Amino acid sequence: MTAPILRQLADLRALTKTWQQAGERIAVVPTMGALHDGHLSLVKSAKAGADRVIVTIFVNPKQFNNPDDLANYPRTEHDDAAKLRPYGVDVIYAPDADQIYPEGFATNVSVSGISAGLCGAHRPGHFDGVATVVTKLFLQTSADQAYFGEKDYQQLMLVRRVARDLDIPIDVVGCPTVREADGLALSSRNTHLSDSARAIAPALHRAMDRAAAQITAGAPVDDSLEQARADILAARFADVEYLELRSAATLTPMTLANAPARLLAAAMLDGVRLIDNIAVAPVTPPR
Ligand code: AMP
Repeated sequence: MTAPILRQLADLRALTKTWQQAGERIAVVPTMGALHDGHLSLVKSAKAGADRVIVTIFVNPKQFNNPDDLANYPRTEHDDAAKLRPYGVDVIYAPDADQIYPEGFATNVSVSGISAGLCGAHRPGHFDGVATVVTKLFLQTSADQAYFGEKDYQQLMLVRRVARDLDIPIDVVGCPTVREADGLALSSRNTHLSDSARAIAPALHRAMDRAAAQITAGAPVDDSLEQARADILAARFADVEYLELRSAATLTPMTLANAPARLLAAAMLDGVRLIDNIAVAPVTPPR
């Protein structure tokens, strides 16, 4: 059965109240729509972890630093609802814009530390937009759990910080990145790639995998990252915005993989900004 689509907060609250009264655990999966198997993997985990699942679809203008990117962002609500059908989602919350940003909206949730650097450095205002909308969605849905993808690792860490700092009683669950067979991380933006760019795109993940293996084997981090950057550009990406090794737990920069780390990258291909990240195991000491 297709899940009902609600657009007004009052309607959502009426529904969640009945669930709470019945003692049911509620999960929310926040999305911007244009759903693919990455999103659906979150929905599947949410179904397994809670009694009720809300999928939100809201293309949040506040998190777009580039007006063209916002205008071109794919909007496919009808198809999204069809894709969710087999998963037994309880409700799709696709709020009207004024339900998120009412007339005179003046509050901003801003997270220092985690939002500096990486995507935060290249997309001014982006993480304030994310933190603000996520705070609102957590409060509006009164969910017990929220499911986010590791695909957006900095975002996942930021959302955890927001929930903890603002005492929002929600368990933030991170789910692994879903990839195409050739390694490209699924993304709504991949649909903007030309056929030739699509063939090039997996080079990003390939170069990152190689660098991660070298770092774990004890190669100098700088050399491995330099080589990966060169490989990505040689594959004909136009630019590597960042390629960095960070602590998996705190996102602080690392020059030595002496603890669980994350390799994170953003690169431009065919006018499309692709991001990816992978786990890097700590250097194995020689026996
Ligand atoms: P978005 O609609 O791009 O804002 O993404 C909504 C949620 O889906 C976020 O928590 C993303 O991290 C997650 N997501 C996007 N792509 C993937 C993927 N390839 N694998 C797993 N989760 C993903």
